Amino acid sequence: MGNPQAHVVLFPFPAQGHNSPFLSLATRLHHYRPDLTITLVSTPRHINSIRSSLPSDSRLHFHSLPFCPVDHGLPAGVESTSDLSDAQFITLFKATESLYQAFDDFISSLVSNALDSAPLCIVSDFFLGWTVAVARKHKAFHTTFLTMSAFGGAVLFSLRLNQPHRLTEKDQFPLPEYPEVIIDRSQVAQNILASDGTDEGSQFFKRQLMFLDNTNAVLVNTVEEFEQLGVGMLRKTLKFPIWPIGPPLAHAGQLSSSKSDEETEIMTFLDSQPPASVLYISFGSQNTIQSGQMMQLAQGLEGSGCAFIWVIRPPIGFDPKGEFKDEWLPHGFKHRIKQKHIGLLVHGWASQLKILSHVSIGAFLSHCGWNSILESMFYGVPIAAWPIGAEQFYNSMMVVESGVGIELARGVMDNSVPGKEKVKEVVDLVMGPNAKGMEIRKRAKKCRDVMNKAWNEEGGSSMKSLLEFFKLINI
Ligand code: UDP
Repeated sequence: MGNPQAHVVLFPFPAQGHNSPFLSLATRLHHYRPDLTITLVSTPRHINSIRSSLPSDSRLHFHSLPFCPVDHGLPAGVESTSDLSDAQFITLFKATESLYQAFDDFISSLVSNALDSAPLCIVSDFFLGWTVAVARKHKAFHTTFLTMSAFGGAVLFSLRLNQPHRLTEKDQFPLPEYPEVIIDRSQVAQNILASDGTDEGSQFFKRQLMFLDNTNAVLVNTVEEFEQLGVGMLRKTLKFPIWPIGPPLAHAGQLSSSKSDEETEIMTFLDSQPPASVLYISFGSQNTIQSGQMMQLAQGLEGSGCAFIWVIRPPIGFDPKGEFKDEWLPHGFKHRIKQKHIGLLVHGWASQLKILSHVSIGAFLSHCGWNSILESMFYGVPIAAWPIGAEQFYNSMMVVESGVGIELARGVMDNSVPGKEKVKEVVDLVMGPNAKGMEIRKRAKKCRDVMNKAWNEEGGSSMKSLLEFFKLINI
């Protein structure tokens, strides 16, 4: 048993894709060390939404840091990337640094109320690197939790550190730190490709890497056996211990049995379809595609005749929370899919885990956000990949290289519109009765076993990582 007074402070970046892995980490910490005090720190709106998703007997403590979006030029009430357009993300990223003083006061109060020997560990999001300075000041142990994939993280770090890339004339280039990894220009986000390294986004990212140099350990939301290459890359370039501790657990809110009317409709639709026959389509919590791409995708889906559930939101350039207009889809599309009982459009948000865990799901057309990939693999669902930005391109690379999916399209620039024929071809390939599709589905099922074994009490790799991590931080 470790030190009974130990306190772990978790600080996720305010975004859906970051909350889930942190909540999962809290659950794992409590499971293996019931004596720990764990406090999750965030902005008020986030804490409210996290609280409402947890069971009433949750032992997680909360501490709210005051945040005023308007002071940073953000719309009132906005505390998360899912409320913003891509161009506004960087403003929110930078604004989080204004939480420094309030966070410092909180840690200060913990230190002055704790017994002298009580270890204190801050586990912060990679995007909140400034928390390192607070940890140093109070002699706390600082851990960075990387919620992206190890491979995606390693590639992004290298690209950022080696900007600018617009000087590269070649279409493909090796990464200086990892010459075995060849990146294609079409796999580099436009904001990185076009930058000379001095713009706000680049500066912010490089600042996080500078902070990362001073952290004490890194937890990664991945499974070592699934990401041997990526974990090896991180270990090669980062100086401190790295512990893969994925996949995340579904938390209570994500799998609760209570259903909204919309969820009932989704489940009724899925229940009415044969096993492994429905394509689930989602671009995550904050991405969307161009209106022309939306049109082609809809036509391809109709052409393929495959049943689908599509979580849809307004195309790029329109208010992400605004009303969805039928003109963005082929004329009569909604009516036809309803009449034929072949497709379901869900506006804005659906409970992804409930969908992916349903036996009728046959494949996932995904933007390759890391949580989505892990969740899909956790349920053994193969992927039709359509990465849109950031490290999603490298997650897609892994999907293809590990044989659990096929890339349908890349990015959202006009030249990357997948024609309706291509949509039909990929959907047929991933889901249909053909040799390649069968192999992909077999490999996805193997990945499900790997994911499930990671927390096996008799020596699962993620469980061992977490126990080693406890020793390292002396709790
Ligand atoms: N998610 C969901 N419903 C949606 C969209 C997203 O439940 O309609 C969840 C999904 O299960 C995942 C997270 O939100 O846990 C999205 O994270 P990911 O890393 O896949 O993508 P991001 O949104 O960060 O780009």
